[in-house]
Amino acid sequence: MFQDITTLLLDPKAFKDTIDLFVERYRDMNISVVAGIEARGFIFGPPIALAIGAKFVPLRKPRKLPGKVISEEYELEYGSDCLQMHVGAVEPGERALVVDDLIATGGTLCAAMNLLEQVGAKVVECACVIELPDLKGRERLNGKSLYVLVESH
Ligand code: 5GP
Repeated sequence: MFQDITTLLLDPKAFKDTIDLFVERYRDMNISVVAGIEARGFIFGPPIALAIGAKFVPLRKPRKLPGKVISEEYELEYGSDCLQMHVGAVEPGERALVVDDLIATGGTLCAAMNLLEQVGAKVVECACVIELPDLKGRERLNGKSLYVLVESH
């Protein structure tokens, strides 16, 4: 069953409360970059980045970013997919937060973290609105910390 976050966006108070929960957690963690995963990480990532004074970097599907990119492929249930990031968007030593709407198998967050680590950034944490714990995605994150607001079984 697809977990649809667009209904959350229809309720301005609920959407704001969601963003505020993340902002409260991350405002004092010295995060310099929020990396949002296409497409729904682009909804939650930018308001968090603005509120904590970090830059926002989009991690996009292939052939969407106009500049020079680095790429990370990852496996899906059927086939594979790829995320890309602009070269120079993130500097070595930066402290990064990865944001997406939902973690299922964890493959997408893993690829996002690999991109950031390729350029020498430190991933402080991954943040999602929803976790599907039955798919055990958390176990694929190599011990990296994951913060979620809601579990869906
Ligand atoms: P994973 O790589 O963890 O298996 O899948 C997570 C990615 O797929 C996220 O980018 C997420 O947006 C998308 N995704 C997978 N299942 C769902 C779902 O049920 N609802 C939503 N909103 N996104 C999903």
